[in-house]
Amino acid sequence: MAELRKDPVIGRWVIVSTERGRRPSDFADEQVPTTEAVTCPFCEGNETMTPPEIYACRKDGTKPNTPGWQIRVIPNKYPALGIEGELHKRGQGIYDMMNGIGAHEVIVETPHHIEDVFSLEERVIEEVIWVYRERMKDLMKDPRFEYVLVFKNKGKAAGASLDHSHSQLIATPIVPKRVEEELEGSRNYFNFKKRCVFCDIIQQELDLKQRLLWVTEHFVSLCPFASRFPYEMSILPRRHCSDFKEIEEHEVRDLAALLKKCIGALTRIIPSITYNYIIHTSPYSYPHLDYYHWHLEIIPRLTKVAGFEWGTGFYINHVAPEEAVKHLRQME
Ligand SMILES: [Zn+2]
Ligand SMILES: [Zn+2]
Ligand SMILES: [Zn+2]
Repeated sequence: MAELRKDPVIGRWVIVSTERGRRPSDFADEQVPTTEAVTCPFCEGNETMTPPEIYACRKDGTKPNTPGWQIRVIPNKYPALGIEGELHKRGQGIYDMMNGIGAHEVIVETPHHIEDVFSLEERVIEEVIWVYRERMKDLMKDPRFEYVLVFKNKGKAAGASLDHSHSQLIATPIVPKRVEEELEGSRNYFNFKKRCVFCDIIQQELDLKQRLLWVTEHFVSLCPFASRFPYEMSILPRRHCSDFKEIEEHEVRDLAALLKKCIGALTRIIPSITYNYIIHTSPYSYPHLDYYHWHLEIIPRLTKVAGFEWGTGFYINHVAPEEAVKHLRQME
């Protein structure tokens, strides 16, 4: 059973997971062999290699855990947090901890052994976005959970252990610190200006056009003013909305097209690119916020976070977002 421990100085929670019982020698070589379709547990036909599915988009008449699916959601075989049990919040002297309760799911985005779903049709990406929404809505029914983070690790350097195109989600019993920081910052801005900082960013970037990538009817994509990483990108809905779960059909279509465009441009600049993307949305307990605005962040993994960044929280970015935008836009 994993354990959640709170850092008493800065209030950050850490998941201490001992399930896999790693010995020091296990860290010596982190190379994961590339999977092939025959041995890949995410390929159609290999359903018995994974834990039983939680949800699937499948052809009428096909049974769970058999071929015939388009998208398949399964529990992570090595979950960071466990689904069974009580939260059991407790203290030990000055320390706070609780049981490592959470959900850790894998969204397998295609039955075929394809490494990047963004090489596929927009229709497939739309379905993936719908599944994100479905899973977020479903996990909300569990009163133990406060937050769900949907994320994608593409490539080994970005943390993926299998090549087959997939994303993941982790539901946690607390609101993560990074999210808390965004909530607090945008709340302070709102208290002062009576406006959503994200809506203001969208407006200013639309006016200036210096960091703007592509604009659709319902979304904008841009390289953030204070980008931490080369080619970092954000996608934001133009309509003020703090809760990703409220995304509508026409917006899903638009988001799929834009996501394909952004990842496509990145891949054309660096074909072997590895990246992460994450969806930041409001917590389950207070979904409707005037001051917060859901968004998607794309983080290309071109640089390693090193000593200075760890020690200070400062990032050194060698590609100005205004330059990154020019390169990315040429790749359209
Ligand atoms: Zn596969
Ligand atoms: Zn807003
Ligand atoms: Zn964010």
